[in-house]
Amino acid sequence: MVAEIICVGTELLLGQIMNTNAQYLSQRLASLGIDLYFQTTVGDNLNRLKSAIDIALKRSDILIFTGGLGPTSDDITKEAVCEYFGKKLILNQEVLNKIEEYFKHRGVKMPEINKKQAYVPEGSIILENRHGTAPGLIIEKDGKIAILLPGPPFEMQPMFEEYVVPYLEKFSKEKIYSRVLKFIGIGESSIEERLSELIHNQSDPSLALYAKPFEVELRISTKKSDEAVAKDILDQMESKIRALLGEYIYGIDNQTLEEVVVEMLMQKGLKVSVAESCTGGLICNKITNVPGASNVFDRGFITYSNEAKVKELGVSEETLKNFGAVSHEVAKQMAQGALRNSLADVAISTTGIAGPTGATKTKPVGLVYIGVATKNYIDSFEFRFSGDRLRIKETASKAALDILRKTIINY
Ligand code: ATP
Ligand code: MG
Repeated sequence: MVAEIICVGTELLLGQIMNTNAQYLSQRLASLGIDLYFQTTVGDNLNRLKSAIDIALKRSDILIFTGGLGPTSDDITKEAVCEYFGKKLILNQEVLNKIEEYFKHRGVKMPEINKKQAYVPEGSIILENRHGTAPGLIIEKDGKIAILLPGPPFEMQPMFEEYVVPYLEKFSKEKIYSRVLKFIGIGESSIEERLSELIHNQSDPSLALYAKPFEVELRISTKKSDEAVAKDILDQMESKIRALLGEYIYGIDNQTLEEVVVEMLMQKGLKVSVAESCTGGLICNKITNVPGASNVFDRGFITYSNEAKVKELGVSEETLKNFGAVSHEVAKQMAQGALRNSLADVAISTTGIAGPTGATKTKPVGLVYIGVATKNYIDSFEFRFSGDRLRIKETASKAALDILRKTIINY
């Protein structure tokens, strides 16, 4: 069975919203082992939607729609699909009661137009919408299947997980199981080189590299019918890769660098303070995004001006004059100052030129120094990042977290 996703909505074509539904559904279908060869996006226009259905039915068996199930006149997905599947729309009292209840719960009377959402195609499977009014629908005819889901992701996703996944599982014996290894401090091409034999000499498990700002993800995937077998295969491949490149792997799957760092600080019972110039608080933001950060995060100093660096962190005016704010010397003094003026065991600092202005002949945009200090260790690292201002801030904050990670390992 081949699936096709059809996203309905003019605002998708205008680029006003990101098509996150297509991404979500594609990822889920892949992991369910259901082949997906086409994604279509079409506006709220009956004729063009019908032509999209026409094309899709010729090349796919399962058509998954999102959007256009609302109560207004531009919501036409159900009507278009019913025409193709030759199904009449019939008022369903149970659905109507649910919609009325939905409004009653919110203390308002159901607008008359919402009655439209209680009409369902004859003989269809109705999927309850716990987070909105439009029910989802599954329509089967002559070996073809249409699955209609609401557009808002917070309605679509739980409905897909609760009802559509169990429905689709019967069409696929094998599922795709994958694990992501997250690398930092090594480039995509170096990983590819070091793992070339593993990457090129096999199809299952397969290995795929994705470069992200300052990190690389490696996805190991295997298609199996048995979860335990799949897990074993993933474990073995992970061990092989760790044997070659383990020092660069900071985490797996959805783990973020800041989560790993906070966890490591907790395990060692250490506290961190941060002194930021060019990253403007981004590192503190990332650390405090992690639940439990209060156990390990002491404080942050956002010292953007030279005066702040002197006053808050005790950076010497002499050093600023001789080496400039963007220098090894200042990065080190910032980290030392953050350590001295706080209750932390480790301090990190950033100072750099995020651009687009501020560069000089010797100090280009993207030049960043990251300092680190503990009771008996102090160092600074130079980086030359590329990209625009936000990207440089993002990359610098990751580099700093990685230096923090390595410092904790050796603490
Ligand atoms: P409603 O009952 O809210 O009208 P609907 O099922 O008719 O829902 P649409 O009107 O097409 O869906 O879209 C409603 C909202 O859902 C959009 O404004 C958008 O925020 C979100 N949405 C729709 N399609 C997508 C998509 N493909 N990806 C991400 N978000 C989407
Ligand atoms: Mg709508």
